[in-house]
Amino acid sequence: MSVHVKSGQFRVKTQGFGDILDITEQVSREIEASEFSNGIATVFVPGSTAGITTIEFESGAVEDLKQAIERLAPVNMHYDHDARWGDGNGFSHVRAALMGASLTVPFAQKRLNLGTWQQIVLCDFDNRERTRDVMVQLMGE
Ligand code: ZN
Repeated sequence: MSVHVKSGQFRVKTQGFGDILDITEQVSREIEASEFSNGIATVFVPGSTAGITTIEFESGAVEDLKQAIERLAPVNMHYDHDARWGDGNGFSHVRAALMGASLTVPFAQKRLNLGTWQQIVLCDFDNRERTRDVMVQLMGE
């Protein structure tokens, strides 16, 4: 028995500052382009100022998530990281750490097992525009 793995990636541009992008379609394409019918997809964003999660991607829920994150790690607070590095994105690192950088979703018959109103999103918490390479690693059969 051997493990079958396929690694892919795609690139997105973000506005930073908590920009939230629906990346479900890009992840689905990696599965469609693979030889796998069933398995798991791990979505991972390298970098310490971005996160991956799921949400119902509609403007109300997206705004609610942004507000909740602002309450958890407000922009206008003291962050030791800023005192040490002066890049002003201490809040970005804390937000990214709380959310996590990866997500694993099972798929069957080449389709992600997401709920009807559940999308995969990339959240970019940095304090500037960024280009992100998102990795999609598939394990399947
Ligand atoms: Zn920093």
